[in-house]
Amino acid sequence: MNPIRNAVTEYIETRHTAGNQKRGDELSQLEPRIPVSQIGHCPRMAILDAVRWHPDHPLHAEPSHGFDAYVKEIMEAGNVWEHQTGKALARNLNGVVHWERDDPALRVRNDVWSGHIDFLIEECDHYPAGAIIEHKATNPVNFQRKDRLPYPFHCMQVLMYRRLLQQKLQSDYIIPTYLYYRSWSHWAEIQVWEYNDGIEWEGEVNGRTKSGEFDICMDDAIRELQDYWLRQELPPRYKTPTAVKFSCAKVRKGQAWPDCRYFGTCWPELPQEGPFTPTWE
Ligand code: SF4
Repeated sequence: MNPIRNAVTEYIETRHTAGNQKRGDELSQLEPRIPVSQIGHCPRMAILDAVRWHPDHPLHAEPSHGFDAYVKEIMEAGNVWEHQTGKALARNLNGVVHWERDDPALRVRNDVWSGHIDFLIEECDHYPAGAIIEHKATNPVNFQRKDRLPYPFHCMQVLMYRRLLQQKLQSDYIIPTYLYYRSWSHWAEIQVWEYNDGIEWEGEVNGRTKSGEFDICMDDAIRELQDYWLRQELPPRYKTPTAVKFSCAKVRKGQAWPDCRYFGTCWPELPQEGPFTPTWE
């Protein structure tokens, strides 16, 4: 008997179900679009997620795997931290921050994409050119043992918001874009921008200055997904379920475990509850 733990897990489960329900109700009323948060991840998942709430769409597939309790809990923690960061920014920047979830200023959408910016800051003394901020809660291991922030797909996400916001405002003005990571008291505040055909970034991780670049062309990444979408075609599955990190299955100690909500659609021939041996490696 762990009544406190039980109450917390039950609360998180209820919140997760209600959040999914709300999102599904909203998105099913709109024309399907590729979620901006999917850019840089598996193209097949991006298209499946675009039609996730449209069961009559020819590309629709019902997710075979839900998030596990651990993922739900860290997602909830991420929401709590994000809300707190939003309140902190609003308190400090006095009226120039859009951060409340229902604020229409945060919605971006065109014929292919749709998304929701976390924080949008209007021009002010602190941010003379304004700012788009993407907030991410992340595993503390990224600060303690692994040196892998920022993730390239997060950079792509915030840069895509900038492009869509420019379209929405019919302006070619380039608003600076930032990632803000949190994990307990760890933090990373990183500016991201496109440079020639790549992505550059610079900022601080727990107060230590860092910079870097990714050889990723935003135009190419956008075009690839857009082309699949406009052809109404599902991209092929990866060559193997462990070909790409953070994709179909995660591998630990020589065993693979399904790790994508469409695993059953893409890999019906493999065990669905794991573990299984990644013999193709
Ligand atoms: S199971 Fe793999 S190929 Fe299929 S959508 Fe997920 S990540 Fe993509």
